[in-house]
Amino acid sequence: MQKILNYINGVWVESKASEFNDVVNPATGEWMAKTPLCGKVDVEAAAQAAAAAFPAWRQTPAQDRVQYLFKLKYLLDANIDEISRTIVMECGKTFEEAKAEMRRAIENTEVACGIPLMSQGVISEDIAPGIDEIMIRQPVGVCATIAPFNFPGMIPFWYLPYALACGNTYIVKPSEKVPLTMQLIFKLIEQIGLPKGVINMVNGAKDAVDGLLTHPAIRAVTFVGSTPVARYIYSTAAAHGKRVQAQGGAKNPVVVLPDADMEMAVKIIADSAFGCAGQRCLAVSLAVTVAEARDTFMEMICDAAQSRVVGYGLDAGVQMGPVINQQSKTRIEQLIGLGSQEGAALPVDGRGAVIKGYEKGTFVRPTILANVLPDSEIARTEIFGPALGLMHVDTIDEAIELVNRGVYGNQASLFTSSGNAARRFRYEAEAGNIGINIGVAAPMAFFPFSGWKESFFGDLHGQGMDAVEFFTQKKVVIERWPKEWSRKF
Ligand code: NAD
Repeated sequence: MQKILNYINGVWVESKASEFNDVVNPATGEWMAKTPLCGKVDVEAAAQAAAAAFPAWRQTPAQDRVQYLFKLKYLLDANIDEISRTIVMECGKTFEEAKAEMRRAIENTEVACGIPLMSQGVISEDIAPGIDEIMIRQPVGVCATIAPFNFPGMIPFWYLPYALACGNTYIVKPSEKVPLTMQLIFKLIEQIGLPKGVINMVNGAKDAVDGLLTHPAIRAVTFVGSTPVARYIYSTAAAHGKRVQAQGGAKNPVVVLPDADMEMAVKIIADSAFGCAGQRCLAVSLAVTVAEARDTFMEMICDAAQSRVVGYGLDAGVQMGPVINQQSKTRIEQLIGLGSQEGAALPVDGRGAVIKGYEKGTFVRPTILANVLPDSEIARTEIFGPALGLMHVDTIDEAIELVNRGVYGNQASLFTSSGNAARRFRYEAEAGNIGINIGVAAPMAFFPFSGWKESFFGDLHGQGMDAVEFFTQKKVVIERWPKEWSRKF
């Protein structure tokens, strides 16, 4: 069993915690580690180290700061298989899903290497005769990231490379459910030779988070996780004077028009709903069929759900792994039960799954809930598991109305071959990430990872230029240098 350590001021340290969270391989049931549930003492040490490192790091030229990221990119590339295996073992994805996650982490590192250009300021000469105005971007100070369990390798990288490249120092708090991936990544970070204290890691759950949210030296906090916690993070961090962005949960609809390429739509929607066992904030979880799309789609998506190969993500040919833990499996199965009580049909019921050879695993097979009623609980609640609800309407107007009725706004997708319908959907759908014939509209690292309504609290998002804006503060300088003061040379 691996010991989970904090990384503070350039050294690995044991936490002062007396409570721990068990880390169990969700496919095999094997016990892998115990996450120390750190509190304010450990956060204090990390915040002090990051604060002490800040003055020298901010003075390091941006083009020198990104040299560390170039090295990190190389090491992440070289170790992608080992990191991905760790993600599979602690998080339950398939190996390919884990690798795809790490590719996006690497892509964010690459984009952040452009900071010397991306963080430039602007100057306007002669805003009045002989007076110039300059806008400079300066780092914010000590920043922190609080991460969820479902992308242990990628989500910290929506922020970390940008924060460092912009001249901030940093604290990462991984999810207590999946601490091993960041242990491995920090072993690589250790090799790139950053000055001590520039990057730190504290493990734990609520107590560690509360320590970060209230610490006076920490100037900015990013969060990704469920909506109730996102709302708490946003209000608490803001009340303590911090810059904050908090990404929350989702209930992502997809609309299928009768003119869609049905084979393509079904394949992509099944990948979106059941990929990563539905534990993706961009997983499609409600499919709305319009007019005669209904019967064909229903039949084909049920086939796709039934034929998905479920098992351990390290075994060849497996298309879907387990959900994160027993608690999650129980919650998902109860929600499927609730859907059925509320009147939904269950043409494919994935509850009670037992996978041969992995009897201790927390598997839920793909599930289809048909005829979901728009006002039912199951139509509104994030299941965060491999369960797809089906609804039906007669027109695209009704479909868009249904999409916009949802409280979340992380993603909305449309499958069609009509450019006009696509344009209308893009224009009217109330979500921050839109997919047209796309099931997981995950923005590339040079676009912001958007999210609207209850899926996001804040204004600037992660990745790309939004991250540069978030991790820098603007300073405006207005200068006058009168001619009369000139020396004669
Ligand atoms: P979670 O909210 O339970 O935990 C996220 C983080 O918050 C963890 O680090 C955890 O330690 C901490 N935390 C949990 N409860 C807390 C509390 N009461 N006070 C302070 N901190 C607390 O989320 P999760 O189960 O790890 O992740 C799944 C959720 O994340 C889903 O709702 C999913 O939709 C969402 N998610 C959203 C996005 C997005 O971009 N919008 C991306 C990935 C995941």
